[in-house]
This record gives sequence, structure tokens and C-alpha cells, in this order.
Amino acid sequence: MKRLALLFLILAVFAGCGGKSGGKAESGNLYKETQELMGTFATVRVVAGKEDLPRAQEAVNKVFACLRHMEDLMSFHREDTEVAQVNREAFDHPVAVSAETFEVIKAAVQFAKDTDGAFDITVGPLVKLWADAGKAGRLPTQEEIADALSKVGAAAKIKLDEEKKTVQFAVKGMSIDLGGIAKGYAVDRAIEVLRAAGFQDAIIDVGGNMTVIGRNADGKKWTVGVKNFFRKNGYVEQVEAENMAVSTSGDYERFVVINGHRYSHIIDPRTGMPVEGAASVTIIAGDGMTADAWSTAASVLGSSKALELLRKDAKYDDCQMLFAACTQGFRDYLAPEEEK
Ligand code: FAD
Ligand code: MG
Repeated sequence: MKRLALLFLILAVFAGCGGKSGGKAESGNLYKETQELMGTFATVRVVAGKEDLPRAQEAVNKVFACLRHMEDLMSFHREDTEVAQVNREAFDHPVAVSAETFEVIKAAVQFAKDTDGAFDITVGPLVKLWADAGKAGRLPTQEEIADALSKVGAAAKIKLDEEKKTVQFAVKGMSIDLGGIAKGYAVDRAIEVLRAAGFQDAIIDVGGNMTVIGRNADGKKWTVGVKNFFRKNGYVEQVEAENMAVSTSGDYERFVVINGHRYSHIIDPRTGMPVEGAASVTIIAGDGMTADAWSTAASVLGSSKALELLRKDAKYDDCQMLFAACTQGFRDYLAPEEEK
């Protein structure tokens, strides 16, 4: 009998829906635009009266310029970014970076401490090891995992110089991967751009990292939904959101399959193994970077430990969580999806 699994929801609130529509006025007083960036889709919705649509479009152009600027600084999928330079040179010498990149790396080191090492941007060697294993169709050996693990540990192995804004690595072969935090940070900065342009009611969503400000075009709270993590369409829940960030991490979009087994893109930095069981974790927080980092961390920690650590530190008192757990076997029991 296959292992039965439990689908297990902890109370909370959440949201997270992406948009794949074009860029134009969605209705008389809502301007919406979607562009592809950071390997996903970014959708901006701004409440603006008809006479204000040109100004809204101009503000949204600045938002996308801001998001692209963050990608130009922090992508580890390209060779021409600051993070790529840090990964090449930071063992040989301290590497100076922009204030934005420094802020994200400094915050990430703190999240590593606050999450007992569950959130750790130095997972780069492990992420690469499992991505290569997926391509090769074979599991990494214990030696390969141990070797990658020896380069992991943000709290102890990253040296930051606040004054000079430099980053240095303590171990050769280290590499940082900001995939679990930089989208949330980028949305925070993009919201500031909108506010500076005089728009107070909007949603910015970058691949499941969403920040909601003000009210929707009807003057009500925005309603956002958490994607159904098992189905192509539909939501698990709808949430009324206002002035908050919502981040969802899940193993339903990015994973590798080896010998018929699905391995998540989220890796436990303490064991070197992809996390099992966290189908979808959504965190609500006051800012996007915290929501992003904690949705990743909670996927590693599991629901009880994540709740314990969140409640241990007053700075996370405004964080809420939905945790949907399920084991591989549960998926085998899902009824086929009706074609819409
Ligand atoms: P999250 O849980 O938010 O993050 C998971 C990601 O964080 C993993 O993919 C890995 O990158 C990293 N990670 C894994 N385990 C841990 C851990 N324990 N602690 C900390 N981090 C961990 N994707 C593309 O396909 N092409 C691109 O060109 C591309 N460019 C990008 C540029 C930027 C600046 C960013 C931020 C992301 C980019 N991505 C790109 C997407 C990226 O590779 C991740 O897949 C994505 O950010 C995962 O987000 P998530 O919300 O699914 O999961
Ligand atoms: Mg994240």
C-alpha cells in the first residue's frame, strides 16, 4: 500500500496569484501591465482614474525599470551582475557592491541566524549540484553533497564590511544565490517607486512575491488568492489584503525529477537535501523581503519549527503563515484535473 499522506493546513492568511495578461488599462480605473523578468512574470496593477492613465503608465514604466535594475544587480543566472562578480572573486578579495545588494546580503545573513540556518543564501553550490543531478538523471553522491555542504553557512562564512560595502567569502568555492529573497526585496523597492509617483493603491506581483498597498478600484480591500498547488487553475483560498506583503514558495513549479522522484528547488542547508513535504508555504509580512525569506525558510523548517522561531522574535509578530504539507505519495491519489 503506498504511503498515504496528509494534506495539512495550518490556519492563517495568505495570497499569491500571478498574472499573465497584457499591459493595458484593465478597466476605467485600473492600469495593469505584465512583463517577463527574473525567470518569471511580473504584474503591476495600479488604481488610476481615466485622466490619470498616462501618468500611471509612466509610473509603471519606472517600476519595471526598478525591477530590471534589481535583476541587473542580483541575478546569479547571468555573468554580468554584482552577485556573479561576488561569486567569482569574493574568496580572493573583498568585493564592493551597491547599497541595494549589500542590504539584501546583510539581511540574508540575519535571516540565516533567525531561522537556525534554514534560510541560507550560500546554498549556491547545493542548488547547482541538484540542478546538475537533475540534468544527469542521477542522485548526487554523499561525497558530492558533503563537499558542497562544506561551502555553506552564511552566518559564519560571509564577511561584510558595512563601511566599504564589501562582501568576502571565508571558503573557496562558496557562491550566493539570492533566489529566495531578492524578488521580495525588488517588490519593496518597486512599491516605493509607485508611492513616489503619487499612487497609493496598487498590487505588484513578481512570481508569487506580492505586495498590496491601499485599496482596489472599488475602494475595497484587494482580494488575492493562494494558487491551488496541485492544479493548473484555481485557488485554495481568497484573502482580503491591505498594505502587506505575501510570498508563496512551493515545489509545484520548480523541481527536478530523478529516478521518478520529484526533488524541490528548495534545499535544506543543514543536510544538503531538497526539502520534502512542503507543497506550498505562504507568508504574510510587513515587507516583501521578510515574506520571501520566511516562505523559503518555513519550507525547510516545517510548520511547527517555523511557527516556534517566528513567535520567538517580536520583529516577526506581524507575520502569518499558511503551510500546506503533503508527501510525494499524496499526488498519486489526486483525481485527474477536468480540462477547462
Ligand atoms: P523561494 O522559496 O522564494 O526561493 C527558492 C530559491 O531560493 C531556490 O530556487 C534557490 O535559488 C534558493 N534557495 C534554495 N534553498 C534555499 C535556502 N534554504 N535558503 C535560501 N535560498 C534557497 N529563474 C530563471 O529560470 N531564469 C532566470 O534568469 C532567473 N533570474 C533571476 C534573477 C533574480 C534576481 C532572481 C531573484 C531570481 C531569478 N530567477 C530566474 C528565479 C530563481 O532562480 C528562483 O527559481 C526563484 O527566485 C525561486 O523563487 P520561489 O518563489 O519559487 O521560491
Ligand atoms: Mg522566498
